[in-house]
Amino acid sequence: MSLRIVVTVKYVPDATGDRHFADDLTVDRDDVDGLLSELDEYAVEQALQISENSDDDVEITVLTVGPEDAKDALRKALSMGADKAIHVEDDDLHGTDAIGTSLVLAKAVEKAGYDLVISGMASTDGTMGVVPALLAERLGVPQVTLLSEVSVDGGTVKGRRDGDTATEQLEASLPAVVSVTDQSGEARYPSFKGIMAAKKKPVESWDLSDLDIDEDEVGLENAWTAVDSATERPARTAGTIVKDEGEGGKQLAAFLAERKFV
Ligand SMILES: Cc1cc2nc3c(=O)[nH]c(=O)nc-3n(C[C@H](O)[C@H](O)[C@H](O)COP(=O)(O)OP(=O)(O)OC[C@H]3O[C@@H](n4cnc5c(N)ncnc54)[C@H](O)[C@@H]3O)c2cc1C
Repeated sequence: MSLRIVVTVKYVPDATGDRHFADDLTVDRDDVDGLLSELDEYAVEQALQISENSDDDVEITVLTVGPEDAKDALRKALSMGADKAIHVEDDDLHGTDAIGTSLVLAKAVEKAGYDLVISGMASTDGTMGVVPALLAERLGVPQVTLLSEVSVDGGTVKGRRDGDTATEQLEASLPAVVSVTDQSGEARYPSFKGIMAAKKKPVESWDLSDLDIDEDEVGLENAWTAVDSATERPARTAGTIVKDEGEGGKQLAAFLAERKFV
């Protein structure tokens, strides 16, 4: 039996960089360094572990919807060990919201062919955590989200979800969409051999016409939500520094009481 896994990965602005909004109130992705969203590294890792633990012929495709530089996110996932990549890029995608992104991902996953889609629990910039559910709805397949452990057994995907009050063991028949959390295990670092091999691995580029998507289904103008205004958060102040000359404890208690922390 063969197993086709598609891992959705997002290219996000580097959180240590100077992230800011562009004039049209979308996130400025032009002059800011970007990288593979850290939470998607866990999704790539789980796909690799399913492949390593399987006797079947497993193929891992990483998929991103993003600007030209998003290729860096694909390259990182390929150097971790994914087999091939798909990059959906189109100027008309600028400012696309989660609803639109899920449409593009669904069409791309269908065109690529799949048995299992693995996503991260959320991106590290939009952080909405909704795309896997939207994607499963559009594909008309089951979704099993926020898994800390995932495995595939024949035609069934199984996993464990750790909630605050209970741990659930879940399963669904393939094809299905799952998302994994940052508790699903350390993501491997690409080896030098992996980085070199990634340079030769195929990256297909598709645009909206390849997916039969009309420009008025995506983009900032067609987004269901809009950012009306954005104001810089005030710079963090140094805070109150208490120099303990014997009264430090009292001063701290007074500080906490004043702010009703105690
Ligand atoms: C600061 C900020 C605020 C935003 N606010 C909104 C909003 O309120 N409403 C709205 O509809 N959109 C919003 N967006 C746009 C939204 O981020 C994008 O549409 C995005 O592609 C999907 O949302 P997300 O990043 O929150 O994804 P999540 O739902 O958090 O992503 C979950 C998983 O889906 C996959 N995924 C998400 N995006 C992509 C992609 N482009 N390519 C491949 N895989 C992907 C990844 O595996 C990811 O781990 C916002 C973006 C930013 C940066």
